[in-house]
Amino acid sequence: MDEVLALPAVSCSNCGEEVNDGGYIPAAGADGDADPRPDGALCTRCGFSEVGFAGCAPEPGDVEAVDADVLLHVQREEEGYRVLGTKD
Ligand SMILES: [Zn+2]
Repeated sequence: MDEVLALPAVSCSNCGEEVNDGGYIPAAGADGDADPRPDGALCTRCGFSEVGFAGCAPEPGDVEAVDADVLLHVQREEEGYRVLGTKD
């Protein structure tokens, strides 16, 4: 998969900081046709230490307040967020 989400900068739903490096964005829908839910975005730090178990990436069900089927592991780039992987 080599997809870039054309999203403006999103903020981490846990700490409020802009996700400007790596992070996670929950999405509804199936692979390749995912509808991102930026409201539930997480920065990598919160994803690993606050929401997911220590040392593990969060699961879609760990993200509160959004209806997510999958969690997109993203990397911030100029044009948006590149999807590095998908977790469901
Ligand atoms: Zn955070």
